[in-house]
Amino acid sequence: MDTKNKGFNSKLIHAGAYEDAKGSAVNPIYQTSTFKFRNADHGARCFSGEEKGFIYTRLGNPTIEELENAVAELENGVGALAVASGMAAVNTVYLTVLSQGDHMISHSSVYGPSRGIMEKLYPKYGVESTYVDCTDLSNIEKAIKPNTKLIYLETPANPTMGITDIAAASELAHKHNILVCVDNTFCSPYLQKPLDLGADIVLHSMTKFINGHADIVGGIVIAKTAEMFSELKYVMTNMGFNMDPHQAWLTRRGLKTLAIRIDRAQQNAIEVANYLEKHPKVDWILFPGLKSHPQHELAKKQMKGPGAMISFGVKGGLEAGKIVMDNVHLAMLAVSLGGIETLIQHPASMTHSKLSKEARETAGISDGLVRLSIGIEDVEDIIADLDHALSLV
Ligand SMILES: *Cc1c(COP(=O)(O)O)cnc(C)c1O
Repeated sequence: MDTKNKGFNSKLIHAGAYEDAKGSAVNPIYQTSTFKFRNADHGARCFSGEEKGFIYTRLGNPTIEELENAVAELENGVGALAVASGMAAVNTVYLTVLSQGDHMISHSSVYGPSRGIMEKLYPKYGVESTYVDCTDLSNIEKAIKPNTKLIYLETPANPTMGITDIAAASELAHKHNILVCVDNTFCSPYLQKPLDLGADIVLHSMTKFINGHADIVGGIVIAKTAEMFSELKYVMTNMGFNMDPHQAWLTRRGLKTLAIRIDRAQQNAIEVANYLEKHPKVDWILFPGLKSHPQHELAKKQMKGPGAMISFGVKGGLEAGKIVMDNVHLAMLAVSLGGIETLIQHPASMTHSKLSKEARETAGISDGLVRLSIGIEDVEDIIADLDHALSLV
């Protein structure tokens, strides 16, 4: 069915649907590494691209393709490439856009490993980077050099919840012939559509909201133009970053409930944020839905809703934060985010521990910062859980 003119929820259910020869209602898992050709000419036509046919799963597979077509449509891109993890998506973009001698600008508190590999691995290949607070565009402008090829944004950023104006950053980048990639993991296409705002590439860790059930690891890269899509595809297929069909099938299933999951998690997050903001033992809180968030107005303009991620500090710093993390029972002490269950974690000792203390401090990741990913449980239970833990501080 053509879902191009249908609403977002209809797309979530039907976009990319694959017509299975046996008529199954749900696309089967094509758990196969390779595909039979009818004869030698057919094989040759598939390889030359004269005829569209599946050849080998690293290059394409019906189960994976259904997921790719669905996410490409949801993000308003021309095509998408599903990969083994969010980090495979990040590397697909870095390897496609950046060559020896090139420079990249990114936000100081992006996802830890996205910055970690850029600073540890990529200098080996002659790629340099500058990390600045991208929530202030003048910092990006000052960091632009003649060899800058990529502005890599993550908004809201992890875990400081800093928000970058995607439209304004894209306009600035394009004036200098620089491409813009947005890591849209925290929002999903339900809350934010970076390509519509001017970005050239979007990526996700599908491990998070897109799959939403904490049972797979996966990533995806979405391109705005056919030319960019084929460059990304060359890197993805030849680096062997592809997703597995079974993982793709689970992710396509999880995707169907994206909007109703986010609606509920977000409503819970709004209530939890209001509760935390008033709590006497909470020092500060960052949630795009609160008026106190420094980019609250920009969040309202650029995002359909504030999402389900909250960062906060407990009075008494790290020691007090530890008491909270050790005494919650419903919230699970675990990294990752965007699932149906509430998770709590401590970036300074967990997700961002590989950054130096100095890099963390300039990025705004204080030792006392606690990050919550709010799930879809009953909000009264989430608040009671936090209330009990905070009472012990
Ligand atoms: C988790 C995450 C990634 C990396 O994804 P993996 O699936 O763990 O490889 C990248 N960006 C953001 C914002 C993330 O939260």
